[in-house]
This record gives sequence, C-alpha cells and structure tokens, in this order.
Amino acid sequence: MARDTGPQCKQCRREGQKLFLKGERCLTEKCGVDRRSYPPGEHGRGRMRQSEYRQQLREKQKARRFYQVLERQFRNYYEKAAGQQGVTGENLLRLLERRFDNVLVRLGFAASRRQSRQLINHGHWLINGKRVDIPSYQVRPDDVITFGASSGAQDVVRMATELTAAVPAWLQADHDALTAKVLRLPERDEIIAPIEEQLIVELYSK
Ligand code: SF4
Repeated sequence: MARDTGPQCKQCRREGQKLFLKGERCLTEKCGVDRRSYPPGEHGRGRMRQSEYRQQLREKQKARRFYQVLERQFRNYYEKAAGQQGVTGENLLRLLERRFDNVLVRLGFAASRRQSRQLINHGHWLINGKRVDIPSYQVRPDDVITFGASSGAQDVVRMATELTAAVPAWLQADHDALTAKVLRLPERDEIIAPIEEQLIVELYSK
C-alpha cells in the first residue's frame, strides 16, 4: 500500500481518533474528528463488527498513519524489532519514535510529520554537523541536531516551536538557537502515541 496521500482528517476519522497529522489545525475546533466523530463513507454512521483480526489490522494501520510510513517499511520495522532483545512491541515503537522526522516533531521543530519530512528532504537540518536529508534516519544517543537553512524555512520552524507544550525527557531542545540533543533512547511511557502495540505484534505473529 502506498503512502496515504488522501485527506488527512479522513485518516483520523477512519481510526476514530486524533492522529495530529495537520499541525496547528489539529488543536482548533476545525479538527475533523471533533466535528464529525464517525468514520468517513456512506456506512460511516453504521455499526461495524470489530473482529479480533479487524482490531489488530486497524491498530497497525493507525500506527502506520500516525508515523506516516509505508506498509513495506512498517513490516521492516517489525522484523527488526522482533530480532532485537526485549519486548517486540516496545522495540517497534522505539524504532518508529527514533525516526528523524518524528524526532523533529517531538522537539517542536515541525508542526506535523509531513512538514518535518519536507524540511528534512530540503536539507534544512544537520546531525553532528552533517546534512541529513533522510526522514527515516534513526537518531542515536548524543546526536546533536542543528538547523542550517535560510530565513524562509526558519520562520516555519519558529512557528512550530510556538505550538510545542513540552519536549520529552529523552530529548533536549533549545528553541532559540534551534539546536537539540538526543540524551538517550525513549522509554515506553515516554512515547505518546495512541497505539496498542501488542495488537500489532499479534497481527504479525499469526
Ligand atoms: Fe486529525 Fe488533525 Fe484533521 Fe483533527 S485536524 S482530524 S487531528 S489531521
């Protein structure tokens, strides 16, 4: 399945919760989920039978949409997580959370993952002094992230910082200097994502 390029609010309504895909709009009363809290489509208001398989599938789709990754990429993350020591579901979320595009959102340097990916693709960010234009780059402890772009992009980043309530404890951000550091890997309870990872593990373990 290709990346979801359709209306983002529909993706949230399909999953029945806010996935915060649109940045500032998600915090306003214009939010699609707040305005229409039923799934899109002509059968949206009807009752849908939730089989165990369907629940697991929906959870996987929700995680994929939340982190904006392709089906194949997501499967690769799962396989990598399953091969690591520890709890597979937590490993999976940690891999997703460490993506560079997600980290910029967590740091408050982008209002959404889509915006974050655009800033990265345009080469506006450096890690340890080197330009990194790969949104899926996995950040590591002690990585230093710095902004290295023109004033136009800087305005976008500064606007995003104004929307940020708090930066998770595994990261450190300086919103004035537009720099950041990865202090350590995230703990499970520091990953604020509306995802029940165990359902995804059950789906892929079948
Ligand atoms: Fe989802 Fe944001 Fe649209 Fe609300 S405004 S439905 S959170 S993308």
